[in-house]
Amino acid sequence: MNLTPEERCCKQLLSGYDVSRCFRRGVVERDGERYCKQHDPVAVEARADARQAQWDAKRKAQQETAARAAQRTALLEEVRIRFFDVANWPDYTGSRADGGRILAYREEARNLRRRWDALHAEEAKAP
Ligand SMILES: [Zn+2]
Repeated sequence: MNLTPEERCCKQLLSGYDVSRCFRRGVVERDGERYCKQHDPVAVEARADARQAQWDAKRKAQQETAARAAQRTALLEEVRIRFFDVANWPDYTGSRADGGRILAYREEARNLRRRWDALHAEEAKAP
């Protein structure tokens, strides 16, 4: 490839203590300077933006995974505490007098089950 200096990419490259000019053909002009595809400042910026977007998406996915794990841990702890509560009710024998508490417990158990299922449904949807 025998290019005149005017045809070549203007990018100065550092290699150790040496500075040399890119040997590729300049294919785009930016502010009066010619650049090859790799060193075109617009392409360089686009690649940096794409890397940043990929990084942001990865970070967001990690945060969502961590948030779901924290939610699951909190829900498990709540279930554990509630069932411990119920097991320790002194008169949890199904007596008529306790009917209100049993109904409240059943309602709470259903709510926990719904939240548990919703969490798993959300997890199944996640990429
Ligand atoms: Zn170049």
